[in-house]
Amino acid sequence: MRILVVEDEPKTAAYLRKGLSEHGYVVEAADNGIDGLQLALHGQFDLVLLDLMLAGLDGLSLLRQLRAQRNTPVLVLSARDTVDDRVAGLQLGADDYLVKPFAFSELLARVQTLLRRSQQRVDMVLHVDDLEVDLARRRVTRAGRRIDLTAKEFALLDYFVRHTGRVLSRTLIAEHVWGLSFDSDTNVVDVTVRRLRAKIDDGQASKLVHTLRGVGYIFEFRAA
Ligand code: CA
Repeated sequence: MRILVVEDEPKTAAYLRKGLSEHGYVVEAADNGIDGLQLALHGQFDLVLLDLMLAGLDGLSLLRQLRAQRNTPVLVLSARDTVDDRVAGLQLGADDYLVKPFAFSELLARVQTLLRRSQQRVDMVLHVDDLEVDLARRRVTRAGRRIDLTAKEFALLDYFVRHTGRVLSRTLIAEHVWGLSFDSDTNVVDVTVRRLRAKIDDGQASKLVHTLRGVGYIFEFRAA
């Protein structure tokens, strides 16, 4: 897990880096808002710890610009403890707020909670190429365009997306999606795959559903 610490007080930054590293996190730090924003936008971080009073670019402005592009979880750390600041931070999309000074154990507990929460959120939204499958809301989009699926088509896509890159026989698909011991005379799998394929692949440069003649199907991204 990678954590970005944006904090201009060297002592606090060192304290956070040391404590979080000891708990197995990989920590990068920025000591001003401008560097912090660049790192947050272009690096791969699971969480950002953000001080509000920063040189260059203040924490709330950083948060506003970050949220325009990314939804990395943000825990605001601030000596300011007015209700207005807290509300402003949360309205701009901060996930939690901790007032300085704080006990490291409390910070750690909040970090762990935020990381766990975002991990669950990620698990509920699966991506293959530009296809996005939101399992909780049962919403499917490709390149941002909404795709309406029947319940069976959605169940089939769910199974495909969770088994990306694997060879799936008709029997396996039937057992998992229809829950029946498959009658090899029926072509229900092929018919449903064909409908699903028409909805997600037709008109797309790259295809996701691939037929292995006599074997079954593979669901994966292949460049056009
Ligand atoms: Ca500061």
